[in-house]
Amino acid sequence: MTRAVIAYGANLGDREATIDAAAHELAETDGVELVGVSPVYESAAIKLDGVDHDAPGYLNGVLLVETTLQPHALLDVLQRIEHAHGRVREERWGDRTLDLDLIAYGDLELHDERLELPHPRAWQRAFVLAPWHDVEPEASLPGRGPIAALLAEASDEVRRR
Ligand code: ATP
Ligand code: CA
Ligand code: CA
Repeated sequence: MTRAVIAYGANLGDREATIDAAAHELAETDGVELVGVSPVYESAAIKLDGVDHDAPGYLNGVLLVETTLQPHALLDVLQRIEHAHGRVREERWGDRTLDLDLIAYGDLELHDERLELPHPRAWQRAFVLAPWHDVEPEASLPGRGPIAALLAEASDEVRRR
């Protein structure tokens, strides 16, 4: 079994219902055991040119799993769940019903055309680090160090719901 950290974000539709359903679907997946659920945070949408206060706000959080799935198979599961909740990919960092990112998979570091681990931008995102820190305060991001220190340096604003 490998411990994996999954971050969600949702800023369209019934965000709570989507997140609850996604967590449930993940927990029901063969080879995936849900072992931790963070509190929910709110954050402003970030677009390619910065914070967009006109866009609907996000709910963000982290799900911890223990899994026997290989990382690409776990990514397949996440993308299937996103798709089932109406995720459409249009502009980069566009509004979405559901985003599920694989933040870390054990200590694994890898980079191919589909998957980069750890997630390349997680280290600087309070909307990932804050909920993760709540459920795993001693955790480290492979190659980046303790998440507590990374969170202290992160500049985006989040607030606990
Ligand atoms: P960001 O990656 O900055 O959070 P995003 O979540 O909006 O942006 P997406 O459009 O959801 O980006 O994903 C683009 C591609 O990123 C996916 O098709 C997927 O193959 C790839 N990807 C690479 N590494 C990861 C990862 N660790 N978790 C999720 N997707 C990843
Ligand atoms: Ca993302
Ligand atoms: Ca994503």
